[in-house]
Amino acid sequence: MKHQLNIVQGDITKERVDAIVNAANTSLLGGGGVDGAIHRAAGPQLLEECRTLGGCPTGQAKATKGYRLPARYVLHTPGPIWRGGTKGEPELLRQCYQNCLALAEELQCKTVAFPSISTGIYHFPLEQAAGIAVSTILDFLKTSQFVEQVKMVCFDGRTKGVYDAALAEA
Ligand code: ADP
Repeated sequence: MKHQLNIVQGDITKERVDAIVNAANTSLLGGGGVDGAIHRAAGPQLLEECRTLGGCPTGQAKATKGYRLPARYVLHTPGPIWRGGTKGEPELLRQCYQNCLALAEELQCKTVAFPSISTGIYHFPLEQAAGIAVSTILDFLKTSQFVEQVKMVCFDGRTKGVYDAALAEA
């Protein structure tokens, strides 16, 4: 199959793809978790470019170069902070995946890698987040022109298991 979604376990900063996604915060000035790992691996020029972007609203996405990363671009998207589920969190998470994929398409990327957005420090429930991620990515792959391969890069085995189950159920 030409267009596909794969779930893997690993460190997203090592991914040799056209674009990796950063689960950023709205300042785009770096943070903990995957955001910190991406900034450390990319080097200080990434923060310099991020400073020119003026932040980013939750659910939207902005692109930078990848600098020392093997990936050509970083797509920065602030995921929703979980506040019980009644503050539009599911729709905002869907928008993160959708807007990153639209940006990847604009940048003519063939391969894109995502981390599990919002399920770390932002405490979005993992099963629900995985369902949203998988369905949004699979829908997008039905009509994408450039994006052919999307990888969900899960940092730990529990996260990978939940995304595997979401893909099996999709
Ligand atoms: P958020 O603030 O959106 O919740 P976090 O970075 O805290 O973002 O967590 C999102 C997910 O990224 C978690 O599953 C976390 O374990 C994972 N993560 C942390 N470091 C990496 C990494 N280097 N590569 C891939 N995933 C990572």
